[in-house]
Amino acid sequence: MTRNIDRNEELFARAKQLIPGGVNSPVRAFRAVGGTPRFVTRAQGAHFWDANGTRYIDYIGSWGPMILGHGHPVVVEAVQKAARDGFSFGAPTERELELAEEIIRHVPSLEMVRLVSSGTEAGMSAIRLARGATGRSKIIKFEGCYHGHADALLVKAGSGLATFGNPTSAGVPAEVVQHTLVLEYNNLQQLEEAFALHGRDLACVIIEPIAGNMNFVRAGVDFMRRTRELCTQHGALLVFDEVMTGFRVALGGAQAVYAKAIPAFRPDLTVLGKVIGGGMPLAAFGGPRAIMEQLAPLGPVYQAGTLSGNPVATACGLATLQQIARSGFFDELAAKTATLVDGLKAAARAAGVPFSADCEGGMFGFFLLPELPGNYGQVMKSDGQRFNRLFHGLLDRGVYIAPALYEAGFVSSAHADADIAETISAAQAVFRSLA
Ligand SMILES: *Cc1c(COP(=O)(O)O)cnc(C)c1O
Repeated sequence: MTRNIDRNEELFARAKQLIPGGVNSPVRAFRAVGGTPRFVTRAQGAHFWDANGTRYIDYIGSWGPMILGHGHPVVVEAVQKAARDGFSFGAPTERELELAEEIIRHVPSLEMVRLVSSGTEAGMSAIRLARGATGRSKIIKFEGCYHGHADALLVKAGSGLATFGNPTSAGVPAEVVQHTLVLEYNNLQQLEEAFALHGRDLACVIIEPIAGNMNFVRAGVDFMRRTRELCTQHGALLVFDEVMTGFRVALGGAQAVYAKAIPAFRPDLTVLGKVIGGGMPLAAFGGPRAIMEQLAPLGPVYQAGTLSGNPVATACGLATLQQIARSGFFDELAAKTATLVDGLKAAARAAGVPFSADCEGGMFGFFLLPELPGNYGQVMKSDGQRFNRLFHGLLDRGVYIAPALYEAGFVSSAHADADIAETISAAQAVFRSLA
């Protein structure tokens, strides 16, 4: 067979002339794993096709949004209809209310939401609101959690709990992160000390309750319970960044998972994105009325957006949420995800490859480590070389997982048993070659 020109390589070469690194978001460039990014031409259900016409089983699902798989007919129809009625008005629409109602209905901590266009924007706005509502400046975030690329959040730990963070990106002045304290995830002692030192100045603690930006790491129940108590005692707001976990790990998000273990558990503010847009640029943040009414035009905290509540995006998000609110949806999705994770574990065990994995709802993660890690330092001990061989082995067999070992994976309702079985048999072959 003659080898055709590789269209992915051709497009990547052209892209690199036009767009920094050839991509519009860094992880797409395959820099961690090497090789040529696949340029996607179309997708349907659990699959997408690259520029060479090669089909992949998709486990990134646009990094989380595509919980119904690609091209769900009901969602496509809702989007087409909305597009015919107009792309954007800059004036309110009824569909924004319908989407807000649908979100609030499933997440008991929310009384009001504001719609925005990206998770970054939602996280940044939630922190501004937390600061405005408390009249305080300092915030706590945890190492390994990602809350978008707002300046004050691109920060790593300073040299001690008395010192605040250092920027992790050029272009972020040290002054901008001087109010951000970075702690180790799941480290209760650090949290206690930080509150003892800074409690009266803390506006909020922001956390990914199940951290999907260091693959898949759960905050322990005791850690979460105590975080909630400390915030309440010191008058700081607990901000749940559920951009990834919201409507993904359960209909009520990760907060519903913790509420099962901790009576009356609620965060103060919640940040949402990804699934609520169903693949369109849409995100939100919300909480109790008294806090949300601090936002402009009612209150002193400014926040705005030309495309916020966009009519096509809200149609996509609303249709998506209506589908996943069907009874039994999450049970089925969770069962599928668990089948995948169990199959991967068994394949690794059979090949003698150290491996651990976890999942909740339609989100999963795995590590080339014998035990599940509890914080970023432990995650980074996962074997990067081996991960790269695993990634490319799967990719060569038509299975597309996230091209970096610190990213979670996603299963959609469109993944058929045959897709999961095909993935597990590909993994069996790859694990054998890794052993
Ligand atoms: C994806 C993500 C964000 C950022 O959302 P964007 O839409 O990419 O700006 C923020 N927080 C978490 C937890 C995320 O997973």
